[in-house]
Amino acid sequence: MADPILELRQLKKRFGATVAADDLSFSVMPGEFFTLLGPSGSGKSTVLRIVAGLERPDSGAILIEGRDISASPPWERDLGMMFQQYAIFPHMTVAENIAYGLKIRRVEQAKTRRRVEEMLALVGLSGMGGKRATLLSGGEQQRVALARALAPAPRMLLLDEPLSALDERIRRLMQAELKHVHQNIGTTFIYVTHDQEEALTMSDRIAVLNRGVFVQCDKPEPLYKRPRTRFVAEFFRGCNVLTAKALGASDGGIRILLANQEFVAIAPEERTLGAEVHVAVRSENVYFGSHAPESAIRLSARLVEVVYRGTVLDYRFLLPDGQPLVAMTTRHFPLSREGSVTLAIDAADLILLAD
Ligand code: ADP
Repeated sequence: MADPILELRQLKKRFGATVAADDLSFSVMPGEFFTLLGPSGSGKSTVLRIVAGLERPDSGAILIEGRDISASPPWERDLGMMFQQYAIFPHMTVAENIAYGLKIRRVEQAKTRRRVEEMLALVGLSGMGGKRATLLSGGEQQRVALARALAPAPRMLLLDEPLSALDERIRRLMQAELKHVHQNIGTTFIYVTHDQEEALTMSDRIAVLNRGVFVQCDKPEPLYKRPRTRFVAEFFRGCNVLTAKALGASDGGIRILLANQEFVAIAPEERTLGAEVHVAVRSENVYFGSHAPESAIRLSARLVEVVYRGTVLDYRFLLPDGQPLVAMTTRHFPLSREGSVTLAIDAADLILLAD
């Protein structure tokens, strides 16, 4: 297996009483699209700034290609950066913006011209090199920023919420573009976002941060389907977190008492059981009506409301013990608010959480 291109070892950073990075360790492999995901203030930008050399950690080491660069200034790290603010030079043309990093490195003119053309094509702006940068739309300006960051062929590109200032439609378009560019050039991308969907769509691997601590690091699908903690489960929209009573170990899981009924929940790892546990089940995995799989466990519930969300509908229920449970469907089912409804959950979709 290849060696990591980036390795952080026990990184710590405090700002007064705030812990922005609490003993963080992780590795990124060459060519990976690696995302730091977490709510605002969880420490994502601080980690990225430490990697870039714009912030000094209190302790810990940063290794790039196996070499400890903790003491190196930013310009010796050979990294590209892209931020939320467009940060392109308004008095320059598109081509001059893209050529900026090459000029600083004294790359010869003919080579610079070729590289600028290459970058314009890469980000879909061929023929726009002579335009004034400020005449471009927000999405186009971010394409220029991307081309400028990539022109000197940095060994890694650090991207801090580069799409959050764009409107929804352009953002979706740019997500696909960024992923496409990443696949085309194979450069390692370290991406910061608070947007779960953006992280899931684009990343090879995602590290979820909460208050400076990595709570889970995984590929998008396992992270979405198998959250380890309540924080991760609740961070991904559409996940129900329920409180249950632990009864004891069972084959491949533990027996729990949920809303006065006994079930076996999947336990991804060995753990000591408290009297109370939390289980997660995604709202698209809660069935009602004739859609329930044969093997599913059944719960009776009372319908509270139906929320229309465009392509999907949320059916909001209450379990007999008063806990809320949401079932998501793609079409409307006529359900009555009188009496009880039988809900079904496949035991394989009931995940025991670690806290
Ligand atoms: P995120 O990128 O996840 O929003 P940040 O890394 O920007 O989080 O911030 C993590 C925490 O550190 C926050 O509580 C923030 O207020 C604090 N912080 C970040 N930079 C500074 C700074 N230069 N001075 C003081 N506090 C800071």
